[in-house]
Amino acid sequence: MTIFERILSGEIPATKVYEDENVIAINDINPQAAMHILVIPKQKAKWLPDLATWSDEDIGRCFKSAALAAKQLGLEALGYRVIINSGEGGGQTVDYLHMHILAGNLKEFG
Ligand code: 5GP
Repeated sequence: MTIFERILSGEIPATKVYEDENVIAINDINPQAAMHILVIPKQKAKWLPDLATWSDEDIGRCFKSAALAAKQLGLEALGYRVIINSGEGGGQTVDYLHMHILAGNLKEFG
């Protein structure tokens, strides 16, 4: 079982900065920006390709919850970047779908 499933089940305690019926959000243990939040869906998925098996409604709810988390955390005015790493070549290190929300002190690509 992945670390995020252990956090979701409550087996490992974690400070949730946002939660609703679709997702939890926690601070990344190794932040890459002034604010670095991980949005973790409650519905199980290993990675982005699994969303091909989800209903459009469930996918929509998941993205809507990420937007609501960012809003509740006060990031809308600041602006933020959302990243999903998929697969080893995409930089995914935890095999449970999650979105990174990064804000503040972002480096530009290129
Ligand atoms: P990935 O590389 O899979 O896209 O992102 C995994 C992220 O999870 C990394 O940014 C890493 O710092 C974070 N992470 C790994 N283990 C833990 C943990 O136990 N707690 C928290 N809060 N973040 C973690």
